Amino acid sequence: MPTPSNVGVGFASQPIAILGGTFDPVHNGHLRVAWEAAEALDAQVRLMPAHVPPHKPAPLASAAQRVAMLERALIGQSRLVVDTRELRREGTSYTVDTLRDLRVEFGEAQSLILLVGADAFGNLPTWREWRQLFRLAHIVMLTRPGRTEPWSGELIEEVAPRRAREPRELQTASAGKVWSIPVTPLDISATQVRALLAAGREPRWLMPEALVSDPAILEPYRDRA
Ligand code: ATP
Repeated sequence: MPTPSNVGVGFASQPIAILGGTFDPVHNGHLRVAWEAAEALDAQVRLMPAHVPPHKPAPLASAAQRVAMLERALIGQSRLVVDTRELRREGTSYTVDTLRDLRVEFGEAQSLILLVGADAFGNLPTWREWRQLFRLAHIVMLTRPGRTEPWSGELIEEVAPRRAREPRELQTASAGKVWSIPVTPLDISATQVRALLAAGREPRWLMPEALVSDPAILEPYRDRA
């Protein structure tokens, strides 16, 4: 694990990027976007399941079940990992608290990157202590071709001086830059996967084979009537 003493300012260490979500269940849309971010940023990507997502209803699967699915989905590679810190914390998971926690664990010099979908990026000013997010981490917007979301004046002002000119800046500084990467849009959602399973169908090719081939692990989504 990097420490402040061996990752000095200006030293290009591997960034740690986080992709938050409910992962109820994880599917190939999540995995593909996380993989593309890991390659584009030369980062480790931590998939971080939320305990109580601030803007969504409670998940169908328990925290332990969602983690089990993520771990199963990630077998065979090492660039994407599961990070369960939000599940270990009581109450609502706010991103600002998560980033502070990562700062304490990895130190001031570690490059941290918050991955945010382009639609969510436009809503950043509604997030708790949103300006702090830019001080605690770099923020990378995951863009989809042909999709542009309107930004408020205050967001435009916050982002303008932070725009990076090249992705290397996200390795030489530990926080504060804004970058965007285009990602391949796979038209898959957890809602769609849950609906297929509830109807007794197989979500094959929408999620890793290791999940589809294990009926027990997808049990939380089967017909609950
Ligand atoms: P639900 O259908 O239950 O709302 P979801 O499939 O959108 O769930 P989340 O766990 O809420 O999944 O998403 C976590 C993160 O992954 C979010 O940043 C979201 O934008 C992103 N994401 C989800 N699905 C895709 C996809 N098909 N392609 C790219 N990114 C995705």
